[in-house]
This record gives sequence, C-alpha cells and structure tokens, in this order.
Amino acid sequence: MAKTPITVAHGDGIGPEIMAATLQMLDAAGAQLEIETIEIGEQVYLRGVTAGIEDKDWASIRRTGVFLKAPITTPFGGGYKSLNVTTRKTLGLFANVRPYMAYSPFVKTHFPKMDMVIVRENEEDLYAGIEYQHTPDVMECLKLISRQGCERISRYAFEYARANGRKKVTCMIKDNIMKMTDGLFYKVFAEIAKDYPDIENDRMIIDIGTAKIAADPERFDVVVAPNLYGDIISDVAAEVMGSVGLGGSANIGMKQAMFEAVHGSAPDIAGKGIANPSGLLLGAIMMLVHIGQNDVATKLHNAWLKTLEDGIHTGDIYKEGVSTKRVGTKEFSDAVIARLGQVPTKLPAMNYPSDAKRITIPDVKPTTGVKKELVGMDVYIDWNGTPDELAAKLNAVAAPLNLTMISCRGLKLWPNGQPESSYLSHMANRFLKSADAKTLASTAETMGLLQRINEAGLNVIKMENLFTYDGVKGFTAGQGE
Ligand code: NAD
Repeated sequence: MAKTPITVAHGDGIGPEIMAATLQMLDAAGAQLEIETIEIGEQVYLRGVTAGIEDKDWASIRRTGVFLKAPITTPFGGGYKSLNVTTRKTLGLFANVRPYMAYSPFVKTHFPKMDMVIVRENEEDLYAGIEYQHTPDVMECLKLISRQGCERISRYAFEYARANGRKKVTCMIKDNIMKMTDGLFYKVFAEIAKDYPDIENDRMIIDIGTAKIAADPERFDVVVAPNLYGDIISDVAAEVMGSVGLGGSANIGMKQAMFEAVHGSAPDIAGKGIANPSGLLLGAIMMLVHIGQNDVATKLHNAWLKTLEDGIHTGDIYKEGVSTKRVGTKEFSDAVIARLGQVPTKLPAMNYPSDAKRITIPDVKPTTGVKKELVGMDVYIDWNGTPDELAAKLNAVAAPLNLTMISCRGLKLWPNGQPESSYLSHMANRFLKSADAKTLASTAETMGLLQRINEAGLNVIKMENLFTYDGVKGFTAGQGE
C-alpha cells in the first residue's frame, strides 16, 4: 500500500509523550504513513506568533490535507488566538465529530450502553465571535447561519451515520424561538433527511435535548447541532461518559482534516510518563478511517479495546477491583501493540469495513433565482426618552416611509405598548414603505431617511435593510406586534 502523507504536531505538556506512543502504535499496526512534522503551540506563541503556528507550516497541512495534532498549551493573556479555532476556520473544517462511548464495566459510568456521536457545525453561529457595543449598556453578538453551512453539516451527519452503521440522526435546535436561524438549520436538516430513507431522523429543542443527554444518553445515536449548542452538549456528553481522557475528535473539511484528543496538554502530569494516550490514539484511528486504512483502524481499535478489558489501565482510569495493572504511557502502548490481532471478548469489537469510502460532501452552491426586494429599514437609535417621544420625532421625518414599530430587545413598545414594559436606551425603529411590506422602497428613500434622522440629532447605532424574498418577509415581527 502506498504511504499517505500526514502532518504531525507533537504539541505541549503531555503532547510529545502521547504523540510518541500513538505513532509507535500506528507503526506497529502497519499504518502506511509518510510523516511531516511541524511545530505548534507554546514556543511558537512565545516567539510572538499570536496564531500559534508559523505561516510556512500551513503549507504542510495544505499539502498533506491530514493533520494529526497533539494538545497544546495556550499561554495566558497577550492576545494569543486559539489555534483550534484558527485552524478550523482557516482550513474550512466544517464538521467536528466526537464519538462518546461507555466502556463499562472497565471504565466506571452510570450509562453502560452509551454510544453516541456528536456532529457539531464548526464554522458559523455565535462562534464567529462578531460583537459590537451599541450603547454604554448594550452589547451585540451576531449569529450567522447559512444554508450552505446547514446543508454540509446535516449531509455529513447522515453520511457518517450510514458509513458507520448507525440508525438515527437527531437534530438539536431552538427554532421555536430563533425561527429564522435555527429554523433554517432544522428546515435544511429535514430536506437532507429525505435523501437518507434508511436512517431515522428526529428533532429536539436544545434545552430538553441537553437534559436528555445528561439523564438518558443511551437513547441517542448521532446528534447534529449548530456550533454553540454542539460545544455545550459535547462537554455534557464527555462528563456523563465518565472518561474525558478517552475522547478522540475529528475536524473535517472539504479538502483538509484535523484529528486530535479531546483533552488539553495536562501540564500537571507532563514529563511523568503517566498520561493516557487513548484520546489521541482514538483521534488517530478516525484519521486512519479518513485516509482509507480501515483494516489498520479495525486492528488497532480492537487491540486497544482488548487492553482496556484486560484491565491494563493508566492512572486516570485505574480502579481497584476492576483494573489488573496500573501502567504508564509507554507500558500502555506496549500492551496495545502486544494485543494487535486480538479482539475484545466483553466489549463490542469494532469493524471499519475495508471497502468503505471516505465521506465526501458535494459543494453547496449559493441559492440563485430568488427575487430579493427592499421594503424598508430598521434603524437602531440610542435614545434616553420614552418611545412616544421618539415616535413623534421619527414620524416628523419618516415620509415617504412609515414608522410602523419601535421595539427594544425584540419587544414592541410603540404603537400601543404595555405600560409595564421596561426598556433601555436601545430602540429598534421599523420603517416600511407600506405596513404589509408589499410595497417596494428604494435605496435613495432609505438613505434619505437615515440622513434626516441624523439631521434631527438622533444617535443612530446601526441600520438593517428589510428585504422580502419571493415576497416572503426576511425579518421577524416584534413580540407583541
Ligand atoms: P486538560 O484536559 O489538559 O486537563 C484536565 C485534567 O485532566 C488534568 O487534571 C489532567 O491531568 C487530566 N488529563 C487530561 N488529559 C489526560 C490524559 N491523557 N491522561 C491522564 N490525565 C489527563 O485541561 P486544562 O488543564 O484545562 O488545560 C491545560 C492546557 O491545555 C491549557 O493551556 C489549555 O488551553 C490547553 N487545551 C488544549 C486543547 C487542545 O490543544 N486541543 C484542548 C483543551 C485545553
């Protein structure tokens, strides 16, 4: 078999120890890899490279398309950027895949049948971190969700389910409240689900979904979620699984992919030779499947499961009465190597079919042919008076548009606001050419209005054009509107 080029970074803290052990196990199992080594992490940050990776090293990852990464230490302060977030965004690694499996009774857990995979959207949502200060008291964070992002992640979740013999994909969203952003995520999920009649699908509102992962994780198979919810439920799942040190993770893009352990660089135990290499090894096994070395992945995974059930445990999972031997990193990897070719007898054996193809997702084209028409504008104003006073000022300059609503934090204050409604100096003022949003406005009209509002001495924070798409409103109504 031809060797597959991969890029490897040994990282910080326990990184070099667990990477050495992982590479040794990969080699012994017969993985055909041509390794390019790069430096990332603390030393790079401390040289003043705020991204934690030198420009030249992106070239290696671009060339190989496969990045096996040990954990790194992010120094405190100093404007250092998270290398993980940078890598995901730079390389377009849109899917974060994290399996959560119980290894009961060998690793203690309340949920011995837990076997779920979280597929988290990795590039958009509130995680884009686009934030603004609007007034001395009000901050804004933009939640951007795209059809392309939704389609890619949902299709990936279904393809993953199919490739891994899984039966069901559950979508977790909050579309009862965020009808447009989370609404789009679920709508696209439901559309994509139709292409996979062999896989069940369902949906859950994220709050009850999170509670169910905490209280009844055995009911889940594959879960797909937007970025922030995916991040939160990943930690809940890791906690209830009972063994964060055993988590591997894949970040998948159209061209590149990154594989790693879920845990960090564990500086408290670095250099002691006691770290558990399992998380990184499981990440590396996902990498083997990604590059089509499925037979090696199966062999290595089963040897690892056999080691676990033989009670050969590193200190983090060692339990008197369950474990038979407490070992260090090197001894653990030697035990896995000694079991290559064996399969577990109590835990379910793994099988990555040798004819399985790498999961590929077709590129998603931008939507075209939709009639996008301007019908008005929301103007956000920093205003300390009452809504009625503001309405009087705005009505005086509104024509030819009409002031149809003043709201604060999404709650309608004018016209006919409720007397007990509280508000801040942060007013969203809706101007439409006609109240039914059916009459078109021109840019000259909205710009002219903006200018008159400025000339009236009002403090404009921002404006948001209001469009219809094939006649359907592209904006929500205010609560109480
Ligand atoms: P951590 O995951 O490094 O450690 C948490 C606890 O788990 C520690 O007690 C540690 O000893 C233990 N632990 C973790 N991995 C272990 C293993 N393989 N074997 C045995 N015990 C293990 O989290 P932290 O202490 O919050 O973070 C340490 C550093 O890691 C920070 O600089 C953080 O920024 C970084 N970090 C990096 C990544 C990454 O590179 N992907 C992820 C998370 C944290």
